[in-house]
Amino acid sequence: MLSQEMINLGQVRSVIREMFEYGNKRAAEIGRENVFDFSLGNPSVPAPSIVDETIMKLINEEDSVKLHGYTSAPGDMNIRNIVANWLNDTYDTTFTGNNIYFTTGAAAALTITFKAIAEKNDEIIVFAPFFPEYKVFIETSGAKMKIVKCRESDFQIDFDALKAAMNENVKAVVINSPCNPSGVVFSRETIEKLSEILRESEEKFGHPIFLISDEPYRELVYDDIEVPFVPKFYDNTIVCYSFSKSLSLPGERIGYILISDKSFNPSLIFDAVAGAGRALGYVCASSLFQRVIPHCLGMTADIDIYKKNRDILCDALKEYGFDLVSPDGAFYLFVKALEKDANRFCENAKKYELLLVPSDSFGYEGYVRISYCVSTEQILNSLPAFKALADGYRNGEF
Ligand code: PLP
Repeated sequence: MLSQEMINLGQVRSVIREMFEYGNKRAAEIGRENVFDFSLGNPSVPAPSIVDETIMKLINEEDSVKLHGYTSAPGDMNIRNIVANWLNDTYDTTFTGNNIYFTTGAAAALTITFKAIAEKNDEIIVFAPFFPEYKVFIETSGAKMKIVKCRESDFQIDFDALKAAMNENVKAVVINSPCNPSGVVFSRETIEKLSEILRESEEKFGHPIFLISDEPYRELVYDDIEVPFVPKFYDNTIVCYSFSKSLSLPGERIGYILISDKSFNPSLIFDAVAGAGRALGYVCASSLFQRVIPHCLGMTADIDIYKKNRDILCDALKEYGFDLVSPDGAFYLFVKALEKDANRFCENAKKYELLLVPSDSFGYEGYVRISYCVSTEQILNSLPAFKALADGYRNGEF
């Protein structure tokens, strides 16, 4: 009568959502200021003022029918050209608007990309810890998700594990740098080595292997850390980009797919992307927000606030004896739980009104994710709770 697969997806709420709902319930009971909710990756700083100014200008000056009308499915060609030129100026590349397909955020960019490439028996590799929705997106495209764990010492790619996972069915490898949930940025050395392994595998198995670079956090980096621009390193790259986090616009649903002009057949890949977008019923990305984007390329919301939050939290947690992955970007901390079972650890954290996300759904055991895209006040107010949690473990209370 109904798709059991979809019923399951609809009924089993993500751990993150569940924690968020629990936070709302507790806030109603004891007051929002007494709950330290670090569950959601929802940007906490406003979009740059140019976003609202541009929207107002467009509303006042543009023809309303055109402004709110459909664009062509991949997006307005002039705007796609502007994005391509901006990328060329920034990264010294040679894209045109034909390499860009506007989407409703990175989630749509990913589902469209997976649908565009997946055939029967295909495997798509993801590196753990990973964004949990990958599993849903990949499996509903018909491919199989294969997990390769990052090495625990620095959460960069474990190349021996990757080589062992490669076989003729591997159609694509997904990377996400800066990473949700680890905050780690893959170094130039990591991207070079990964590219080398993929080229060798393409040669060995006789077919292209895509490197899908999921980049909602590309600009969210601190301390002048380099985020290597992946198409410069590997030809068969498809970038899934989003403005959700960089411009603090997650509810507006705007991003794009970039198909490298160096890939084996960019126009055919573009056709498959267009077909997938059509099959999934995306129609076109927001017309209004496509028109906002040319005015905001390369800009970010005030990420100094995230950096401040990160520094306060990292310093304090280290002082309390927590072991954490050094986070160079995004707005997440990946912290080792003080016991093996991260779920139990999160239950104990709740006793101090600390809402943390256990790492199991990210494909990695024994850690918790802390989203520090919250107010600095919340970070400061939460520190005694983190200290009490650590003391509780030290004193054998749990
Ligand atoms: N990929 C990663 C790694 C994310 O963390 C998110 C959102 O949190 C997405 C994709 C989806 O982003 P969007 O809001 O652009 O669909």
